[in-house]
Amino acid sequence: MDILYNSTRSTGNPVKASEAILKGLSEDGGLFVPDQIPVLDKSLEELADMTYGQVAYEVMKLYLTDFTEQELKECIAKAYDQKFDTEEIAPLAQAEGAWYLELFHGATIAFKDMALSILPHLLTTSARKNHVKNEIVILTATSGDTGKAALAGFADVEGTRIVVFYPKDGVSKIQEKQMITQKGENTYVVGIRGNFDDAQSGVKKIFGDRELAAYMNEKGFQFSSANSINIGRLVPQIVYYVYAYVKLLKKGQIKNGEKINVVVPTGNFGNILAAFYAKQMGLPIDRLICASNENKVLFDFFRTGTYDRNREFVLTSSPSMDILISSNLERLIYRIGGNDWKKNKEFMESLAGKGSYVITEEMQAQLADFYGNYADEEETAKTIHKLYHQTGYVIDPHTAVAACVYEKYKEETGDGKPAVIVSTASPFKFTRSVMNAIDHKYDAMEDFELVDLLSECAKVKVPRAIEEIRTAPVLHDHVCDKTQMKEAVMEFLGI
Ligand SMILES: *Cc1c(COP(=O)(O)O)cnc(C)c1O
Repeated sequence: MDILYNSTRSTGNPVKASEAILKGLSEDGGLFVPDQIPVLDKSLEELADMTYGQVAYEVMKLYLTDFTEQELKECIAKAYDQKFDTEEIAPLAQAEGAWYLELFHGATIAFKDMALSILPHLLTTSARKNHVKNEIVILTATSGDTGKAALAGFADVEGTRIVVFYPKDGVSKIQEKQMITQKGENTYVVGIRGNFDDAQSGVKKIFGDRELAAYMNEKGFQFSSANSINIGRLVPQIVYYVYAYVKLLKKGQIKNGEKINVVVPTGNFGNILAAFYAKQMGLPIDRLICASNENKVLFDFFRTGTYDRNREFVLTSSPSMDILISSNLERLIYRIGGNDWKKNKEFMESLAGKGSYVITEEMQAQLADFYGNYADEEETAKTIHKLYHQTGYVIDPHTAVAACVYEKYKEETGDGKPAVIVSTASPFKFTRSVMNAIDHKYDAMEDFELVDLLSECAKVKVPRAIEEIRTAPVLHDHVCDKTQMKEAVMEFLGI
């Protein structure tokens, strides 16, 4: 069965998976969505005996229907290899009655690696399938983790270049160092004076600039996106929910068909949307618990049906969730609105214009699968502190937001179903916040001293990704105004 992809903002002209991956965003500014959600065609028991790569194939083949078996298997083999420090790829750790799904064992120790280690291969395969001769220029806005993961994924991949924009003062020191030490002739990293939403809006504007696109085409370039709006990011993220479920089944922790809850620390809404798709595919998930930090737009949205970005932007210790416009939510809005592009477009225009929209009661009624809550900075730190002192297990601030929200959920609902808390970053990526939460006395220490101390506390070896940047030279020092992003791109391309 072939799946085609429609834009959330217009009708007609559905595209194949490879075309949707190449384009990233639809020309009308909409996001590509599958015209139907496929159902798993292997039993959970069969999947339970498979490796991560095999499960990835079984899930992704259902969405990327214009890829041949060989093409897809090659992409998967190149992605989930020794770049990950465990053969399990996405292991589960048990602590305090919940399962932590560790998605941080890839090259850049954050969950973005799960999708960005495969996206370059999906993209170059898509280019080949569509006879694209242009060089592909990846434009990415990052709140910290996407940038490095995309750089690592695309560095020196033939036929591609990558430009990453990050908020100069909005990412952790270690996140920044990871990016500005990136090697690869085809990489370009720029700090902007502005926040993540400015970076994301700037990138969207460049994508929407038709004149520029025509000029680029003349010069032998075309843009694509590595942001989580690309379905080539979304589809690989569905895999680990299926994998987590069947591994719990295999371990005898759940019965076949037993429902579980998933708890997802959320920013741009990509990760939790993948869980929603997994559920629609037949995976026995009950509630999708959406955890926000103090930028709690989504919490307010789930409670009231009003999405309102008009509020102060807060910098928190979980910077990858410091987001007021959760781009991937558009896919859910489109769906609960009955796949009605006109209605969705109105909402998105209202969001762009006055910064808010209100969904109908009918739409709101379809959000019963979701539960939203948030954790403030103090609660987040306390969660890290408590889990460490009670179990020895150390989690990063993003994961701690999720763990804290899960506690609130259980208290509010009494629901004790088995739960998977998605662990999105290694604590080593946010060492200072983590060590500070464990004990304030560490605050005076240097970043890399803290790294060694964390290694002792957590009884975990310092990850390779951190060892590498200890001494790496800075290779990128570009800074630009948020209004100068297009010029920065053109300068890099030399056009
Ligand atoms: C990107 C990111 C998130 C948020 O994921 P979304 O898919 O944007 O909701 C959470 N935690 C970490 C560590 C991340 O890098």
